[in-house]
Amino acid sequence: MSIKKVRIFGAGPAGSSFAIEALSLLNIDSLELYDGECPYKKPCGEALLNQDMKIYDIDPPIIKEVKDFYISIEGNVIAERHYSTPIWFIIDKEEWISLMRREVIRLGGKMKCARLRPFTENGFLTIDARGPFTEEKKRRIPIARAILEGEIPYEGVLLDFDPKNVGFYWIFPSKGKKFNAGYGSLLSRKPGDSLLEYLQKIVNKPSVEEISTSIITLEYPSPDNRGGIFKIGEAAGTVFPLTGEGIRPSVYHSKEFAKKLSEGLSIEEAYLRSFRMGRMGEIERQMRSQSRILSLLSKAPNFMRKFALRLLPSFLDSYIKKGEIPFI
Ligand SMILES: Cc1cc2nc3c(=O)[nH]c(=O)nc-3n(C[C@H](O)[C@H](O)[C@H](O)COP(=O)(O)OP(=O)(O)OC[C@H]3O[C@@H](n4cnc5c(N)ncnc54)[C@H](O)[C@@H]3O)c2cc1C
Repeated sequence: MSIKKVRIFGAGPAGSSFAIEALSLLNIDSLELYDGECPYKKPCGEALLNQDMKIYDIDPPIIKEVKDFYISIEGNVIAERHYSTPIWFIIDKEEWISLMRREVIRLGGKMKCARLRPFTENGFLTIDARGPFTEEKKRRIPIARAILEGEIPYEGVLLDFDPKNVGFYWIFPSKGKKFNAGYGSLLSRKPGDSLLEYLQKIVNKPSVEEISTSIITLEYPSPDNRGGIFKIGEAAGTVFPLTGEGIRPSVYHSKEFAKKLSEGLSIEEAYLRSFRMGRMGEIERQMRSQSRILSLLSKAPNFMRKFALRLLPSFLDSYIKKGEIPFI
């Protein structure tokens, strides 16, 4: 069946990438892309692994290159890694999404600033790319993110694990002299308070410019096209549960769906295959296993969680470089 009209709800990495791909690959008459936030403003760590950078239709603007990593448990550094080439990039996500939305318009799509509940209409392909804000009952947790200045005793990225609450703090470099810090955990309901307390301990003279809380989906990807509305990206669960990395997988997924549609498959078949094929197919199993590990950790006693974290240095390179744990 050929698709002539497309309506996408949510213009983050997944919705915007899908829109660009659909306008480029499918011979469609109209495409509408809706988002409640113009410009994009969801808080994020803005870290992108230096993997498959060619997949992005519009190059993400890079603010910093990251080569140095410090891994802690409850404030004590247990491992360091220093690489000679950039392993992560810190990007200007808001600017990147703006560039993608502009590209959608340039290719003939319509970008509309409106927060709407997805609805279907005859003849339209309807996409839900609302990330964690979709109504589905997937496991989601609050995450706090702060932008701050101050003196930090680490140059590069700090990941500080909190086994008691099954979570971690991060401090990433950001624009200029600023830092992007955050905290998310399975058990803490007020991550903003914990983050501020943490920053007081770790950062010398912290000056917090902004702090806000958002949510993240911690489940493995699964197809959901109930009511004829096709969920893509984080709305379909494309986040690594043990790292919170969701930008790259959401782009993999949305591009794979558009690609499969362009091969002339039925919408349902193209959608199902988008979870199993290409890079998305390769990481789907990893995400599923990570989700199981997270569930086990949440039920384990604190000493077992600490023990499990002590094993991290043995597979740290894979965790940092690919967001993956080997052999699972
Ligand atoms: C605090 C935090 C830090 C993170 N850090 C990282 C990181 O460093 N690296 C990484 O790879 N991932 C990170 N993630 C995950 C990453 O942000 C997401 O997984 C990724 O952006 C998913 O892309 P998406 O397009 O599927 O969804 P989103 O980026 O969530 O985009 C969804 C869009 O839908 C819009 N929307 C929602 N409801 C409606 C509606 N009703 N109508 C219209 N529009 C709507 C929203 O405004 C938003 O623009 C982080 C997440 C959080 C919360």
